[in-house]
Amino acid sequence: MSYRWPNQDVNLRNFSPAEFDRPELMDGLFLTDLDDLRSLCGFALRITDDARNNVDMARIYGDEHAKWPDSAHLWHPERTGPDGLPEYLVRAVDLKPAGAQTFEEREEKELTLVHHAIGFHLDGRWKNIGLELATRHIHLDDFVWDGRRARRPTIFPGVSR
Ligand SMILES: [Zn+2]
Repeated sequence: MSYRWPNQDVNLRNFSPAEFDRPELMDGLFLTDLDDLRSLCGFALRITDDARNNVDMARIYGDEHAKWPDSAHLWHPERTGPDGLPEYLVRAVDLKPAGAQTFEEREEKELTLVHHAIGFHLDGRWKNIGLELATRHIHLDDFVWDGRRARRPTIFPGVSR
């Protein structure tokens, strides 16, 4: 079984576009990385958030959404390349292990997930990793752009919204 992506030449083994809110705004190479990450983990991962537009940001952050221009989840439609196509697509996702029945099982799966994500950085695959250990999810990105204030690579704690 493989899942072909709507607007890119990408076939994934482990994730279907239906698992993403905005699959068309996700970067294909990053999706391929996530697919490999899922295979290394050996257990299902549930995507809890992916690419966002400004409407999504306002829904999540309310009046504070303007404070988050640096969110790796946010796709900036005004940034286009010379051919008029988006300059970049989103290389960020929130996720967590799926199907853990006990505290111990969940913690072991989270440790495995974080281990392999850090491995991607140490192997040079995600040079610009952003790894957030949030209260109810793990955030992963590999994303920099001109003028971005948020620094990478980084690991930081967070509170799930
Ligand atoms: Zn996130």
